[in-house]
Amino acid sequence: MDDIFEGVFKFKNEDYEKYKDLFAELENGQNPHTLFIGCSDSRVVPSLITKTLPGELFMVRNIANMVPPYRETEEYVSTTSAIEFAIEVLNVKNIVVCGHSNCGGCASLYKSEEELKNVPHVRKWLELANPVKEYVLNNINTKEGKNIQKSLMTEQFNIVHQVNNLFTYPFIKEKYINKEINIYGWYYMIATGEVYNYDKENGSFTVIAK
Ligand SMILES: [Zn+2]
Repeated sequence: MDDIFEGVFKFKNEDYEKYKDLFAELENGQNPHTLFIGCSDSRVVPSLITKTLPGELFMVRNIANMVPPYRETEEYVSTTSAIEFAIEVLNVKNIVVCGHSNCGGCASLYKSEEELKNVPHVRKWLELANPVKEYVLNNINTKEGKNIQKSLMTEQFNIVHQVNNLFTYPFIKEKYINKEINIYGWYYMIATGEVYNYDKENGSFTVIAK
């Protein structure tokens, strides 16, 4: 714990000083260009992997980078309200749904009720990826699925599924049709530092390179 107190002190005295002009500019408001929907995993650090500065990414992070399908509700919906705010108030120009390798949330889709009995809210949350689990179980043993790891298939198809869920939001669908917003699905590989972008045309992920 001492380390993070030390970190706060160092931030103020070193990093903050370095970006003083930027922070002065940001004091009165934000104008982020991108809504970044990522996993809560501590190994995925959106500003680090995109080399972005404060003010650029509006972030939503949850277990397994999920996008709950749109529905009108009186409940407290954290992810949905953050998406709504980013699109309707901040007018972001891009949405990135970013999954990653070795995702514990995706792996938990295959755990039993017994194994998840101490985390009932996580178990409920993971239901959002039930169609992903179903797809993987149906395809992993086919000719095409044979050479692909179950974890990779789950993590990548989850990204595609959550991107598709974005289109259930009427205000996103409208902006996308009017070409006012770009939508991306990314896969971050922890071991290599590479990020793969989903290519809708051929239905596969290709590494982002120059
Ligand atoms: Zn994860």
